[in-house]
Amino acid sequence: MNAPLIHTCLLVDDNPDDRALVMRALLHEFPAMQVRHISDMDGFADALQHAHPDLIVTDYHLGWSTGLILLQHAKAALPDCPVIMFTGTGSEEIAVEAMQAGLDDYVLKAPRHYSLLPTRIRSILARQQQQKLLQTTQLALRDSEARLRAIIDSGTDYIGMFGKDGSVTYINQAGRTLLEIGLNEDIGSTRIPDYMPPWCVQIMLNEAIPQAVRNGVWNGECALMRRDGTEIPVSAVIAAHKSADGSIDFFSGIMRDISERKRYEAQLSHLATHDVLTGLPNRALFTDRLEVSMHDAKRQHQLVAVMALNLDHFKTINDSLGHEIGNALLRAVAGRLDQVKGDNNTLARLSGDEFALVCGGLAQLNDASELAQALLGCFKTAFHIDGHELFLTTSIGIAVYPSDDRSAIGLLKNAAIALNRSKDLGGDTHQFYDASMNAQSLQHLMLSNALHHALARDELQLHYQPQINLKSGEICGMEALLRWHHPQLGNISPVEFIPIAEKTGLIATIGEWVLRTACQQSMAWQLAGLAALPIAVNLSGRQFAQPALAQTITDILAQTGLAPHLLELEITESTLIQDTQASIAALNALTQLGIRISIDDFGTGYSSLSYLKSFPINAIKIDQSFVRDIHTDPDDAAIVSAIIAMAKSLGMETIAEGVETNEQLAFLQLRECDSMQGFLFSKPVNGNTLKQLLQSGKNLSNATP
Ligand code: C2E
Ligand code: MG
Ligand code: MG
Repeated sequence: MNAPLIHTCLLVDDNPDDRALVMRALLHEFPAMQVRHISDMDGFADALQHAHPDLIVTDYHLGWSTGLILLQHAKAALPDCPVIMFTGTGSEEIAVEAMQAGLDDYVLKAPRHYSLLPTRIRSILARQQQQKLLQTTQLALRDSEARLRAIIDSGTDYIGMFGKDGSVTYINQAGRTLLEIGLNEDIGSTRIPDYMPPWCVQIMLNEAIPQAVRNGVWNGECALMRRDGTEIPVSAVIAAHKSADGSIDFFSGIMRDISERKRYEAQLSHLATHDVLTGLPNRALFTDRLEVSMHDAKRQHQLVAVMALNLDHFKTINDSLGHEIGNALLRAVAGRLDQVKGDNNTLARLSGDEFALVCGGLAQLNDASELAQALLGCFKTAFHIDGHELFLTTSIGIAVYPSDDRSAIGLLKNAAIALNRSKDLGGDTHQFYDASMNAQSLQHLMLSNALHHALARDELQLHYQPQINLKSGEICGMEALLRWHHPQLGNISPVEFIPIAEKTGLIATIGEWVLRTACQQSMAWQLAGLAALPIAVNLSGRQFAQPALAQTITDILAQTGLAPHLLELEITESTLIQDTQASIAALNALTQLGIRISIDDFGTGYSSLSYLKSFPINAIKIDQSFVRDIHTDPDDAAIVSAIIAMAKSLGMETIAEGVETNEQLAFLQLRECDSMQGFLFSKPVNGNTLKQLLQSGKNLSNATP
């Protein structure tokens, strides 16, 4: 380091000899130095202010003051200006006191020591210069650190540092805000586990830190933790910082809060696995849970029951009250089912009004049966939706793992088959799957596929069964009965395929075809010169519920030219009593067209005749089950007699179905039944045969059974 320059030195010494010696010593070393002699306090004060001294050399003992006082003045005015003092021997205390007051050095007051002065000055100045340099370096460092910190603190990510031992040494502002730590709070004694949940500490120990040590850096996802235990999911970069010797100095972590993304991801995954309307698990999650349950049950030798639920007649509510109310009802149903489903069972909504339940860990079938009963029990009380009081029931089908199937798909399929059986039994009940159902449902499936093509392939035909007036013995009308001849399966009974046509919705097209064909046939007979006789056509429940029915019939009558009073519609008693209000309205619309209405299969629907007087009905068809035993069973005889008598009093005609014997005929004639239909006179026959029957003038008196 170069020798520092001293321009001006204040020399304070009352003794002229010493002064001269000191001056010589100084000028010998620093020839360019200006040495100003100070001899009183004013001069000293003035020099401090104006002379810009680089050095002050003072004696301790002065006539007008002491070196200590001058030192205090000097340090107050010019703190950086070094002061050297002469002290006498034995006055070490003074020296110590002066050093504490800021004295830079002292020299013993004796001429032989004056030569030491330049060396002392040099070392003071060198020290001073070093200090200055240190100060400016420190300032510069502090400045740059402040800038770096400002950058770090202005970020929105957590940035922190921690040592090899896991002690946390720094957390930036964003990190503190995230962790809810005060900006000035001391974190000196905290450690990584104070800010991370245990599972993340494991990730840090087993994965992040070893990889950062190996590769310098680790990227991944983990979580920070607030003091209250709240976890904040973060994406993290952990870096290992090494010293010059290659050993780890400290670690830094930059972490970004990904709560929002995680929430969004969770929402997406909820949407993917849950039904939006009810919030219940959807089919995908249901299948998952079912598979887990089967897996558990296999190990523990237990049973799993899969229940398929379908609300009875939900469509009617949906169609009549609208989707809003339908949806609210589905939510309410979901809520009730959820309450009784059992804690460990999964209830899902599969679609529309279809729900399913997986019930694992069962020891016996009876447990499933009890749960099914409880589920049915949910519907005992009415649902109150938007001012409507709605009564609803459900049907349940149950398939059991492992006996009924060992796959989720198979179990659901079999539960659905059992569910259909519940529906067939009238709903509001549960049925366990059994293997015979499968055969039936396969047959059902095959028939429904075949039925789709039946019309187009001309496999359907109408047969006609004559009806005979019991007074005159003459044919007084006929009933059109549908026949299906399948090329491979042969003749299929309407008892079998009409319900399928109903379920699949094909009944709409088929029913319309029947109506049109019957009307056309009737017109054809009239055009062939035969007497105009009424023709009866059967209507299924679903057809009867069609809002456009009256219009369809109007169109068909107009297109075929048949007079309305020659068309009779047969509606079964059970269809009519399903929804009496709607039935009365529909019947009124039909009778206004001028057509006739009869109740088919009367006596099987448990309705009383008087109850039916509110219906606009022309005729009652006494079901063949009563006619069959009319002769042997006094109860049936009494019922048939009562039906005939009451119908008469209500102004309705009676027609007996399924008359096979002369005894039955005689009985009916005696009771004054109006007409009859049965094998005794004729089986249902095709249009041509019926035409011949009519032409031949066949009647009861010339009939040969
Ligand atoms: P239904 O309307 O009660 O028809 C009378 C059924 O009794 C017919 O059976 C008929 O063949 C049968 N039958 C008539 N006389 C006798 C008899 O003396 N003894 C016995 N044992 N049976 C007799 P079929 O043709 O098998 O029809 C069965 C049911 O299918 C019908 O019962 C009706 O409910 C339904 N059906 C038939 N055709 C149609 C149709 O075009 N549309 C609708 N929706 N249903 C139809
Ligand atoms: Mg009928
Ligand atoms: Mg009938």
